[in-house]
Amino acid sequence: MWDYSFAVQSTFILGLILVIYFSLPRLSIRVNRTFVDMLIVQSAVILLDIVSSWADSKSESVAVSVLYLLNALYFILFYMRAFLCFVFTAFVFKTDPFSGLLKSVLLALPFDIGFLLVAVSPWTGSVFSIDAKGYHAGPMYDIIYYISYFYLAASFIVMLQYKKNVNKKRFWYSMLLFNGLLLAGIITRRAFPTVLLMDSFCLMSMITAYLTFENPEFYLDLRGAVFNTRALKDYLEERNGKLSHRLLGIVIHNYYEMRDIYGGKQMDAGVTLISRFLTETFTDCNVFYYRRGRFVILGSADMKYEECLEKINARFKLPWKDDDIELYLDSCYLTVDLSGEISSLDGFFNILISNFEKADSHDSKTPIVISETQIENNEYEVSVKRALEAAVDEDKVEVFLQVLVDTKTGKAVGAEALCRIRDLKGELIPPGVFIPIAEGNGRINQLGEQVFEKTCRFISKNDISKMGISWINVNLSPMQFMKADLAQRYEAIIHKYDIRPELIHLEITEEAMIDDVFLRRQMQSMTSRGFRFVLDDYGTGYSNLTRLKKCSFINVKFDMSVVRDYCSEPDEMLPNMIQTFKHMKFGTTAEGVETEQMARMLTDIGCDYLQGYYYSKPLPMDEFVKKFSIT
Ligand code: C2E
Ligand code: MG
Ligand code: MG
Repeated sequence: MWDYSFAVQSTFILGLILVIYFSLPRLSIRVNRTFVDMLIVQSAVILLDIVSSWADSKSESVAVSVLYLLNALYFILFYMRAFLCFVFTAFVFKTDPFSGLLKSVLLALPFDIGFLLVAVSPWTGSVFSIDAKGYHAGPMYDIIYYISYFYLAASFIVMLQYKKNVNKKRFWYSMLLFNGLLLAGIITRRAFPTVLLMDSFCLMSMITAYLTFENPEFYLDLRGAVFNTRALKDYLEERNGKLSHRLLGIVIHNYYEMRDIYGGKQMDAGVTLISRFLTETFTDCNVFYYRRGRFVILGSADMKYEECLEKINARFKLPWKDDDIELYLDSCYLTVDLSGEISSLDGFFNILISNFEKADSHDSKTPIVISETQIENNEYEVSVKRALEAAVDEDKVEVFLQVLVDTKTGKAVGAEALCRIRDLKGELIPPGVFIPIAEGNGRINQLGEQVFEKTCRFISKNDISKMGISWINVNLSPMQFMKADLAQRYEAIIHKYDIRPELIHLEITEEAMIDDVFLRRQMQSMTSRGFRFVLDDYGTGYSNLTRLKKCSFINVKFDMSVVRDYCSEPDEMLPNMIQTFKHMKFGTTAEGVETEQMARMLTDIGCDYLQGYYYSKPLPMDEFVKKFSIT
């Protein structure tokens, strides 16, 4: 009365998956107990399904106690399978469903009830009963479906709730298929109870899980000899901060040259030989191939890496020989202690790559040591990058204002807009740190434009003349200055806030003046729209007065270093420069004025404007308004 044809095939296919799974090297993070349990329980369910159905059909020749036992076991494993599929779903979605006591009890409850009802069935006949006529489903037989629905529903809830935890769409769809097939299996079983078709659906689910998440081959390289780069990344991501490690890097010296000499095929064979040597020699470590002739050995933090290096070194003195190859290769090393948490693994891999390159070009057998500070500095840079991205994207770049003082009156006459961003804790990050990063990744264009726009908004919302100031300087990075559409963009912003361009003075440095023709064209296009230019940080770059003469600057700002030099050891240089600029009709500003004495000395030699902590530090806009508003 039962049709076994589907179940028998499924058993063999499951057996095959188990054999492949256990015969290949597996990365410890992917030795997923739930998956293995699921496979084993699934195999047992199919076998029991076949055996118990067969026994039920031959009930007259099988002892009643055996029939009870087989059927009870089948039901319990049936519930367990549903439960494990849910646990596996939660694992893929990186959540622990049993984190709280209440949740754990609630989630285990359906299984416990099912178990209890099956256990008492020989006396109550609730789920099933066996009498002289054989096997009968009991009045509470349908509980088998309700428990399965419960765990499936829990899986779908986890999938929706923790969708963000799986970064690949493919994973999400695979889990949808995984649970969808289980659902289809239950529905089929209800519709055709005598065809053992549900197991085929469950088998398809297992294959989906295997192909998407659990195939050990995903992490293998070089004909299964070592783990691949992806394995290293996933492993470090999962173990990050939880386990301390010592990382040893090995690089084949002059890998590409060696490839040219020996040929690609031979080299690949050689690399495989090296992989096998490493995995066979360092059995308690994980060995990874990091492409381009580079290997990574990950051991525990207390591994004796000097001894390992000696062994590797000794082996590299011998040729790498196989049936038809004989390669003579040289090796270089690096090492790093991975005890702390690495917040940016991408950053860490960048350090690793650059140190592999360093190791390759340094002709010594002593390993390059990647220091903690190198990692920390990189971490800091990454955190700044994140803060920068967030500030720019969310329009959170702040603008501080620092006053410029007129030496003739000793009063405020202008201000400089200086940008600020904050880290995650809300602390200010100095522009000296994030501006070079923003210039490096092109974010400076958006950042500079935000500062410009916020300055325009400030001017349109406040009557700056009430603060005694007639203009605000805004810095323009060389990269921004090179943009062909700068004039149009800034003009549009000026129009948006309906302010006069003369109120903004743009500060550029000599770095922006590399291309003479472009410089003049850009300046011309901006000045014709009413913008004015100031030369910033004068005295730090290479200065060519003839070039400056051709540019329409209204003011030259002496760099802090020049000002300090003069104030600590006065000579004729700065006074002469000021006179020269006066003849050229350029105003002059001194930056970094920190004391009254400095202010006096600079006023005496004819400097027009002064800027520095002596007058005020850069202030948030509202504080600036409070401090400088004339009442
Ligand atoms: P900068 O344009 O030369 O700005 C003057 C810097 O000197 C400011 O540093 C200011 O806080 C600092 N300073 C002013 N008076 C004193 C003083 O008496 N003593 C000392 N020790 N320092 C003083 P800050 O704000 O850290 O900015 C550093 C640099 O970052 C700026 O130098 C500028 O090159 C760049 N920067 C700031 N904001 C922007 C911006 O919006 N766009 C661009 N492209 N660069 C900016
Ligand atoms: Mg400046
Ligand atoms: Mg400056």
